[in-house]
Amino acid sequence: MKASSEAQLRLLELADLDAELTRLDHRRRGLPEHAELERLEQRDAQLRDTLASLEAEQGDLRRQQAKAEGDVDQVRVRIDRDRKRLDAGQVSSPRDLETLQSEIASLTRRQSDLEEIVLDIMERREGAEGRREEAAAERTEISAAREVVTARRDAALGELGEQAGKASDRRAAVAGEEPADLLDLYRRMREQHGGVGAAALRRGRCEGCHLSLNTVDLNAIRAADPDEVLRCEECRRILVRTAESGL
Ligand SMILES: [Zn+2]
Repeated sequence: MKASSEAQLRLLELADLDAELTRLDHRRRGLPEHAELERLEQRDAQLRDTLASLEAEQGDLRRQQAKAEGDVDQVRVRIDRDRKRLDAGQVSSPRDLETLQSEIASLTRRQSDLEEIVLDIMERREGAEGRREEAAAERTEISAAREVVTARRDAALGELGEQAGKASDRRAAVAGEEPADLLDLYRRMREQHGGVGAAALRRGRCEGCHLSLNTVDLNAIRAADPDEVLRCEECRRILVRTAESGL
């Protein structure tokens, strides 16, 4: 393949611009803010689950408390009724009296047990409420942190996007000047060689694979026409002669 030495030199500029675009793309995808936002999002999802289960637990406890309080009321009503019967002197037989007094004593113990249960439930509700408030407060903090990190990410993306836009424009201009067949070869070499399609020959070394060319190959290059498009014998990339080639 033939191409003017200017067209060949432009390939190096094209390769630089492609390398810059790749670097910018890596930076864009590797911004630490992506991982940070991901972590915040995961923590927020955990907290949402925690809140949902705490709210379910609170509902449960509310129902348990209402039930226990209802039980306390029932026992209290029975105690009151028994006391009234006692106070009214309605029970005269010593056996009935004893039965009634023992029932009052047992109901009173029952009432005290049920009141313990109510207190225990209330404590558990307080604990759940404390945990719920903590989780809700952390979600508020996360929401604020996400806003800050998102703004930082967007600013970084904007800057990188601007740089990439400039490099893309420049690349289009350079590529527009290249002959189609040379550009096509460059594109194929890029696909085959990890994004680097053309490399400079610098002090007898291919800058693409970093191997020094042997004397035979260097002599062949010296003898080649300047318009001849050369390839590195090692990596097959387009090898561009420059003033620093050491020929
Ligand atoms: Zn090479």
